This record gives sequence, structure tokens and C-alpha cells, in this order.
Amino acid sequence: MRELKTDPKKPTKLLVITDLDSTLLNEDYSFMEAWGVMRQLKLQGFPIVFNSSKTLAEMEVLAQEMGLHAPMVAENGGVLCLPVSEQWQDSIQSGTVKEAMEYEACGNYWVHTPGLDRERILAVAHQLREAHGYDFEGYGDWSVEDVVEHTGLDPVSAQQSLQRVATEPILWQDSEEAWVVFEKQLVSEGIRVLKGGRFLHLMGEPDKADGLRSIQALYAHQEPDVQWLTVVLGDSENDLGMLSAADIAVVIPREDGVEIEPVAVEVIRPKGLASAGWAEAMRLILERVERVRIREV
Ligand SMILES: [Mg+2]
Repeated sequence: MRELKTDPKKPTKLLVITDLDSTLLNEDYSFMEAWGVMRQLKLQGFPIVFNSSKTLAEMEVLAQEMGLHAPMVAENGGVLCLPVSEQWQDSIQSGTVKEAMEYEACGNYWVHTPGLDRERILAVAHQLREAHGYDFEGYGDWSVEDVVEHTGLDPVSAQQSLQRVATEPILWQDSEEAWVVFEKQLVSEGIRVLKGGRFLHLMGEPDKADGLRSIQALYAHQEPDVQWLTVVLGDSENDLGMLSAADIAVVIPREDGVEIEPVAVEVIRPKGLASAGWAEAMRLILERVERVRIREV
């Protein structure tokens, strides 16, 4: 395994940006395998930032459970969330975040929606379905029970996953030909489609890679004397953009065997699925950071 290239004049810290479903979270939404290494990361002051298709409501519960207080990127890059605290207020006021004035308080977080509003996405998608008779279903059609059935989430989490503001996940049940036409119609309305693990996500322009860049800017502003090494972990096509923008990309293997190919500086492919692979890769990376630190002393 190669050594990390670092600037000896600056202390090195990891900025860990991670997908959730099938990456940090197992199929049953547990994360026990990763818990030990997450604790090590936290002890060393290395932020763990969620960047997923999940909603703020879902992520907030997970962050509490894991004892994390970092910013988060929700709904595939459609929503940026900063914890309400003096630490992040400074970043907003100093203009580190470009859209500083557009943050709104939402419970324990300041929230900014750089993408399209979900209402607009729903209006366009449903109007096209009505006009052309497309066969698809999505969160906008579903009750809590339906979401439970389609995702395996428990009812409380399903309720949280319905609290979307910037994306609409759908299941396409029509032909390939119809899909090509539908997608073109969406694009002409400024709506793009990203393929996630389970769903097709209808959304605005900003994606997980844009979210990653905002997070990097925030931490560079918070701790300018630190040399940040961005580690990104993901498993799906919608993680490719952020994985390709990483210093170290960790590609978690998928149960269906499909392999994604990011073009990052370095790509690590652990053997374990989901949280086991997460832990395996992060342990390796932590060992290397330790070696760098010994060299720096
Ligand atoms: Mg995933």
C-alpha cells in the first residue's frame, strides 16, 4: 500500500464523506461492524459527514444515534444541513457557503436547498404521467405503509424518509422506450435523473459532488491550517461524482456484483459488504495516517 503524500508543515486530518445505504448501513440498516472504527475517527477529531439520498429527518436520527455533530448533505446533494451552533454560524456569515443568506433554521440544523423544490419536480412528473400514461410510482404516491413495503424501513423511518424537500425517488414500471422519452421531457424542464441503489431519483442540478465541494469549503474555512485528506465512501452510480472528487475513494462492493469505476487519485476496494467494508477500508486508512504522523513528529 502506498504512502500518503502530505505537506510536512501542516497537520493531516481526514474528512470522511460517506454514503449511507449499503455503504455505512447494512441491508437491515445496522452499522455495528463500523462502530469501533467510527469511534477511533471521532476520538482523533476526524469529521464523518453523511452524503446520501436520505432526508434530513432520517439523517438527524442516525447522527444522534452515532453521536455525530457534523454538517450533512441530504437528498443526493439537494439539501445542505449545518448544525445550529456558533461554529457554523461563523461559516455562514463569513460567506464560506456561497448561498449564505439562503439558510433557514429547521430544528437543530440550518438548511439550504440549492436544487429544485420537490413540489415543482412532482408537478412536472405527474403532469407528464397523466398526459402520456407512463407507468411509474414514487414517494409522492405512497403512504407510510407503502414506503415500508418498498424499502424495508420501519414505520418511523419511513415517515422520516417521506419528509423530502428536493428529490422524488421513483420506481419505473414502463418500457425502456418510454423511459427514454420521459427522461428527455424531464431534462427539458430542468429535472435530472440519478440512479440510486433502489430508486431513480428525480432532482435538480446539484448532486452529491456539489455537496462534497461545499463540505470541503466549510472545513477548509474552519481549520485552515489543517491539510484535509478527503476520503469518500460509496457503492452506487449516484456516488461516482463524489468518489471521483476524493483524495481516497472507497468503493464498497455490492451484493449484485455491479462495480463502479471512479477516477479518484486513489481507489480502495474492500472485500466486506456495507459496514464491514467501511470498517475494513477506514482501518487501513487510519493506519496510514498514523504512519504519516510518526514521520511528521
Ligand atoms: Mg448506497
